[in-house]
Amino acid sequence: MKGFQIFNRASTAITNRATPSKLLIVLTAAGGAFLAISDDSPFRSLTAGESGNDGGKKKKLVVLGTGWGGTTFLKNLKTSAYDVHVVSPHNYFTFTPLLPSVTNGTVEARSIVEPIRNIVRNKPYNVEFKEAECYRIDPVNKKVYCRSIQNLGHGENEFALDYDVLVIAMGARVNTFNTPGVEEHAHFLKEVDDAQKLRRSIIDCYERASLPTISDEEKKRIMHFVVVGGGPTGVEYAAELHDFASQDLASLYPSLKDYLKITLLEAGNHILPMFHKKVTDFANEKFQKDQIDVKTGSMVVKVSDKDISTKNRATGQIEAIPYGVVLWSTGIATRPVIAEFMEKIGQAGKRVMATDEWLKVQGCDDVYALGDCASIAQRKALEDAAAIMKTVDKNNAGAVDVGDFKEFVKDIYERYPQVRKYLEKNKLKNFESLLRNAQGDSQKKIDIEALKKALSEVDSQVSFLPPTAQVASQQGKYLAACFNKAGRCEMKPEGPFRFQESGGRYPFHPFRYRHSGQFAPLGGEQAAVQFPGDWVSIGHASQGLWYTVYASKLVTWRTKVLVVSDWFRRFTFGRDSSHL
Ligand SMILES: Cc1cc2nc3c(=O)[nH]c(=O)nc-3n(C[C@H](O)[C@H](O)[C@H](O)COP(=O)(O)OP(=O)(O)OC[C@H]3O[C@@H](n4cnc5c(N)ncnc54)[C@H](O)[C@@H]3O)c2cc1C
Repeated sequence: MKGFQIFNRASTAITNRATPSKLLIVLTAAGGAFLAISDDSPFRSLTAGESGNDGGKKKKLVVLGTGWGGTTFLKNLKTSAYDVHVVSPHNYFTFTPLLPSVTNGTVEARSIVEPIRNIVRNKPYNVEFKEAECYRIDPVNKKVYCRSIQNLGHGENEFALDYDVLVIAMGARVNTFNTPGVEEHAHFLKEVDDAQKLRRSIIDCYERASLPTISDEEKKRIMHFVVVGGGPTGVEYAAELHDFASQDLASLYPSLKDYLKITLLEAGNHILPMFHKKVTDFANEKFQKDQIDVKTGSMVVKVSDKDISTKNRATGQIEAIPYGVVLWSTGIATRPVIAEFMEKIGQAGKRVMATDEWLKVQGCDDVYALGDCASIAQRKALEDAAAIMKTVDKNNAGAVDVGDFKEFVKDIYERYPQVRKYLEKNKLKNFESLLRNAQGDSQKKIDIEALKKALSEVDSQVSFLPPTAQVASQQGKYLAACFNKAGRCEMKPEGPFRFQESGGRYPFHPFRYRHSGQFAPLGGEQAAVQFPGDWVSIGHASQGLWYTVYASKLVTWRTKVLVVSDWFRRFTFGRDSSHL
């Protein structure tokens, strides 16, 4: 009977909600079904022999990290050719896009994590997991040095693992820009622990401000929540916090309603700079209505236990703002272990570890890297002009006809994707048009100078991939597919022509990122979504799409069910404000 009452309450709540909310719930359920259809790897899995299993002795594959890159790689690895060893300080995968929802109890922490042992169970490869962090990579002796997080003492904490092949998917750390006081006093939002701490700190402030001994001035300080960084995470957190405060906490702590203040500090000129202007404008207007104070051009220079000091970039004026909680969300930086590894392999001074387009770390054999810890250094077409010319000019005549390039155009497009982007941007029909433009006189042949002229600007279209889950997971899937079909592709290469080394093809197609759009949840059941081609949609329907897509992307059915039931719980009973 009680169960029936609860069901009745839930269904009444759903029935009484505005139409968009109902739509969200239906779409969410549909999202789960969507994943079941879309989760299959497009690649045929190969047997151990085909994948390069060396006379029965399996190669040792070490994977560092169980985030988006590492987990998607492990999920899609379908060859039994390797003994796989996974090292990560977290024995679970975290669905990071829902971390902001954990900070206010819209979703519970355990709903967005999945034990890595569950994910790799029943895979065709042997796998062992070590809950530890890698603190050194030795590429010469092919070893990784690790430290357990168990604190065993007596030197039992540390161990080394040999590898034949290494996959680095260790993500990145928060970038504090060495701002004094940030490490000590600010909250971050990178891990589940961070989200839980933030949730506790917010409730802590509400309880502290409710005490009779607290002065008015102090109440104002405690109830001032500051978010640093106007990127998608900072904006989403500010919006989530506003919803939590106005929809749940306002009625539970009525005397504190007028003390609440949320400020968003951004050093640049706009919030959400990676989005279309329509999204930025909408977010600004919405935040103004919600009384979230957005301060652009404000650079944080110091954080103390009670004040955050900002410098106005236009006037240079420094202001100390009293706060209760600060969330620092200003982007990412390289982990120290990766920085040390980069020095060893000749990449010192680079902003981020460079891989080639096949995700192999540059300057290092048998090491691959994906996700936030690395970046693809796209080969420049202009640098290869002489090699391209040498390939096309089969008779060594020193000059060729435009038509002679025809045989290689597909490979040029694949090896240097910036060429196609340049053609599209400049409305040129094809590569021949580019050559003819550089040639000037249609009677003339193409020599190395004309080819260099044609390629002189195409490299301006090389772009870096953003540090997102979309990129990391696509890379994980791609790399696993390469491992799965390694044997077949060594014998029958499928990649583009090698222009630098004459003859032959690369075994695999290079990695290509397919952007499927990005969301910016803005609170009040509204979101912005920007699809490729800068097609933008803002409002309740986009929030519905957000629920659908994120429910579908959760990595297991267990987490899908838990998250969707958390959403139902929140629609029915509101968010939980217990001070746990
Ligand atoms: C709050 C938040 C919201 C986000 N929302 C979105 C979104 O909506 N869409 C989107 O596309 N992206 C989003 N992102 C970005 C996305 O989470 C990252 O780009 C993605 O996690 C990168 O994947 P990764 O595998 O490189 O690193 P991570 O997912 O960070 O994984 C790194 C792994 O390495 C492990 N590790 C760390 N140190 C060591 C060590 N020393 N040794 C071994 N293992 C180690 C970690 O435990 C972790 O398992 C969000 C990020 C955050 C923080």
